[in-house]
Amino acid sequence: MSMDKILNSNVELRVKVESLEEQLSKAQGELTSSNTEIEELKKRLEEKVSITEEDIEEINKIKSEFNELKDQLKEANEKIIELNNKLKEKEEELRISNENISSLTSEVKTNEELNLTINELETKIQQKDNIIKDQLDKIQLIESQISELKPKKGTLKPRTIYRGRVRACIKCNEYLHIRLNDPENQVLMKEFEKLHKGHTIITVDLSEVKGYKNVELIEDDE
Ligand SMILES: [Zn+2]
Repeated sequence: MSMDKILNSNVELRVKVESLEEQLSKAQGELTSSNTEIEELKKRLEEKVSITEEDIEEINKIKSEFNELKDQLKEANEKIIELNNKLKEKEEELRISNENISSLTSEVKTNEELNLTINELETKIQQKDNIIKDQLDKIQLIESQISELKPKKGTLKPRTIYRGRVRACIKCNEYLHIRLNDPENQVLMKEFEKLHKGHTIITVDLSEVKGYKNVELIEDDE
């Protein structure tokens, strides 16, 4: 049952109860006046020696009216009780409906809150996405800068130019510069030959002993 229907039927019931209460009070008033009439008639009867046919008829008439009023009063009372009960039922229905409405209202609030939270989260995710995008852009920029720094295909790498002749031991991977006008070199050379006696010693260009150890440098370090 919708709220409007319940409210309308409650108003109708209240009007009915009010009109019945009015009828009841009217009937009670009539009953009171009937009682007064009966009392008066009783007095008159006590005064009179004999009762006329008219008197008896009037008494009977008043009696039956009195009884009729009593019945009406009883009926009205019953109806008022019944209507009051119905009114209570309707009020209970109204109360339950109100409870339902308030619980629905709170549910609606909860849903609104959830939606707000979801929106906030979506915004945050969007912000993170933007940050990630920015960082990816930066990475791409750095990568392109790096690739510019790398020597392009086909360009010549700066080459170390190895010059000069050396004596090198193939077995030990060691070499020594040959400087014919340097007496110190001559001493080192003799030592080198002695150290690598029985090994294969060759005279080659410096460029051919890549990866070999320069004995002179070792000597210098000491
Ligand atoms: Zn050697």
